[in-house]
Amino acid sequence: MQHLPEDWQRALVIVAHPDDIEYGVAAAVARWTGQGKDVRYLLVTSGEAGIAGMPPAEAGPLREAEERAAAAVVGVSEVQFLGHPDGRIEANPALRRDLAAAIRRHRPELVVLGHFGPTWAPGIVNSADHRAVGRAALDAVSDAGNEWIFPEITEPPPWTARWAAVAVPAGATHAVDVTATVGAAEASLAEHRRYLEALSPEPVADQVRAVVTMTTAPVDGFAGERAVGFELYTFAG
Ligand SMILES: [Zn+2]
Repeated sequence: MQHLPEDWQRALVIVAHPDDIEYGVAAAVARWTGQGKDVRYLLVTSGEAGIAGMPPAEAGPLREAEERAAAAVVGVSEVQFLGHPDGRIEANPALRRDLAAAIRRHRPELVVLGHFGPTWAPGIVNSADHRAVGRAALDAVSDAGNEWIFPEITEPPPWTARWAAVAVPAGATHAVDVTATVGAAEASLAEHRRYLEALSPEPVADQVRAVVTMTTAPVDGFAGERAVGFELYTFAG
């Protein structure tokens, strides 16, 4: 088990929905922004299908606002939404082109993704959107560096990130010590107040503590008291 590299200055976190980053990765983001790094968020949807009983036209803007507030808590000011349909994201060339264009625009050295395997644990299915976004985004890291795959993207010029790190619930090869930033991660997730209130009758503070405790549990073979585990992929620039 190794430390995730930290000899970089700019990262782009790519996920499907508002709140995905706050289920674990935000603790690592808080550590990185605390080191003076530039971390940006890219969300493929606005999460408009995420609140039972609230129409998408109302839920989308609310969830975008909650995401911007959650980002600000961990030192992230650049938050972009691509506007793909929540719940119906397809891992197709159109999504890869949007993601490749965004990677070129933000020029990250590190791209951070959420878990996109079929399950979270035996019997617990991962969402279709998470699977689609992770797969397309990992491919888009390569696409962004190739001038011929999407030749219609003429500006900005090709850009190849050095790494992609995928936050995984098990089987991590690298980890980030987040012992000092668990509190920031809790405060960040708590910004999704309306979403969490609709999700469960449990008090928001209790939900937040449970989620962050689970997603920053110690990682096997890693010294940090609290950690977030990743699989790391390397790209040749
Ligand atoms: Zn999600």
